[in-house]
Amino acid sequence: MEVKDKVASFIEVTNEEEARLNLTALYRLLAHFGMDDTIYTHASARVPGENAFLINPFGYMFDEITPDSLVKMPIRDLEDIGGANAAGYVIHSAILAARPDVNCVVHTHTRAGVALSCLEDGLLPINQFAIEFAGRMGYHDYEGVAFNLDEGPRLDADIQGKLGLVLRNHGLLTVGQTIPAAFYLMYYLEQTCRVQMDVLATGRPFVTPSAELIAQTERQYTSSFDPPRAGHRMWPAMLRLLDRASPGWRG
Ligand SMILES: [Zn+2]
Repeated sequence: MEVKDKVASFIEVTNEEEARLNLTALYRLLAHFGMDDTIYTHASARVPGENAFLINPFGYMFDEITPDSLVKMPIRDLEDIGGANAAGYVIHSAILAARPDVNCVVHTHTRAGVALSCLEDGLLPINQFAIEFAGRMGYHDYEGVAFNLDEGPRLDADIQGKLGLVLRNHGLLTVGQTIPAAFYLMYYLEQTCRVQMDVLATGRPFVTPSAELIAQTERQYTSSFDPPRAGHRMWPAMLRLLDRASPGWRG
């Protein structure tokens, strides 16, 4: 059986071909759910068994990405980045080097994510979506467009032990042990930001659950819904969605 025919059967990729298929699916899903930004932003996946990662070719819409079009890059300190985006290289190489437990990094510039990243308060634990993230996200201060490898150590420090980063004044970033886990986190982080900005836009007083209830709900997330399990549960359905909505994604 061709690997592209059995894609729904794997979650944790074991070779480059599977990584290319799953990362292509992630790009197509970001486009499908309105989380792309024309040709900008990026997601990456570690190549199993190599000190290298896959990232989008600069200049392509996310719904144009195919497994063969992804660019393979070494993980650290490259002078010539070839066909990739410079800021993408800096961010993804730094995080993949700093977090050996992470195999996928997703970065977005959505309207709600950028808006939330401008709030001094950051994420507020005011609803069920938000409680999954509020205590487990890091914050990284803005340093301009990430063209300098010098920013790497500060990204490395801010991402340690976290599900992702609110990149202040910039956007969102999630990480996962698997590609489906990183997608799951970005999908629900995006929902969290959209809801929080909608609530704040009303200007009306809002209800915050008690500290005890927030802690109890956090325990439910880490015991029952925690990625990668939650992401793995949804991934076959996401791939079936792409087969209907984004023909040609398998290359
Ligand atoms: Zn960015």
